[in-house]
Amino acid sequence: MSRIELSDVSKRYPGGVLAVDDVSLDIKDGEFVSFVGPSGCGKTTTLRMVAGFEQPTDGAVSIGNEDVTDLPPYRRDTGMVFQSFALFPHMTVAENVAYGLEVDGGYTDAEIDERVQEMLDLVQLPDVGDRKPEQLSGGQQQRIALVRAIAPEPKVLLLDEPLASLDKKLREEMQVELRKIQQEIGITTIFVTHNQEEALTMSDRVVVLNDGQDEQVGAPSEVYDEPVNQFVADFVGTANFFTGKVSASGDGGASVDCGGVELDVERTRFDVGTDVTVIVRPEDVSLGGGPNRIEGTLEIARLLGSATEYRVETAGGQEVVSLSHARRNVEPGDDVSVTIPPEDCYVLEGTVDGS
Ligand code: ATP
Repeated sequence: MSRIELSDVSKRYPGGVLAVDDVSLDIKDGEFVSFVGPSGCGKTTTLRMVAGFEQPTDGAVSIGNEDVTDLPPYRRDTGMVFQSFALFPHMTVAENVAYGLEVDGGYTDAEIDERVQEMLDLVQLPDVGDRKPEQLSGGQQQRIALVRAIAPEPKVLLLDEPLASLDKKLREEMQVELRKIQQEIGITTIFVTHNQEEALTMSDRVVVLNDGQDEQVGAPSEVYDEPVNQFVADFVGTANFFTGKVSASGDGGASVDCGGVELDVERTRFDVGTDVTVIVRPEDVSLGGGPNRIEGTLEIARLLGSATEYRVETAGGQEVVSLSHARRNVEPGDDVSVTIPPEDCYVLEGTVDGS
């Protein structure tokens, strides 16, 4: 069993910074959970409290149903990978991978050799054992850092921005590979990242942190499609926000008066007069006519590869972002209209500034 449980965990650093503020989490055996949030929100501190490098000021940490709050890192049975790889430069790759097994004790030399080879095979680098880390590419070094962490079969794997220093293409390859290996060995994993896309594509669940607190914990589709507040909507992906007042309501839908733009929305239960924010993802906004049509002027068209981003300024002066796989024959300065299907509008009570 290698469930990870945080119970009312807080961390106040000497000097007064409350880095983690009463976080409770239950990470299931074999689950891959990402901590995502802006710089300084407490991701690393939370991870380090699980690893044992930081002591919580309040609360408890358990791994595999054992309370480890007072145990030092080496007695917690965790494997850790850092952004900097942190391979030992003077050792060969094989010695690096063997390191944890030797520290652990209890393995014969033959067992260590066999395990090292198994690990190198796992990341498809069977022949690099005799090289020094500096003779490997960044991606190869990170694969070795990963298998060095998992070689002694720890209960949990803790990853602190492990892909952040890789270029985009390699990072995407490593996302797939890392997730595949994690599923193959079924190890409970916490993955810290700044990158919301990475968190969404890799995880069973995502923890969105802000100012030391968990704003939302949920499956990637939950935090993306049903954010609990504007912070989550804005941080996890790009969002258009329309603030206004409910002007009509009934049958599970409503109309929202957004100062000159009237939006029909589905799936909402707010009464007439309620201040709300309508959230719409750019991929749900298209150029052209249709429901919830808004007139405006094209400001910018940016080709992003397979999709094009259009930024439109509405007559009321609001910028609306549309992301489309269809290329349109329009130029900045052209009069255009955008359309938003009512079923793609997600409505939250309150306005963006929190009022
Ligand atoms: P980043 O993504 O930039 O690494 P993070 O979300 O991982 O950020 P933490 O490193 O956990 O955030 O830091 C949370 C808060 O605690 C920040 O305000 C940071 O300045 C503060 N902090 C971190 N380590 C210490 C420390 N050793 N002493 C005092 N304050 C610290």
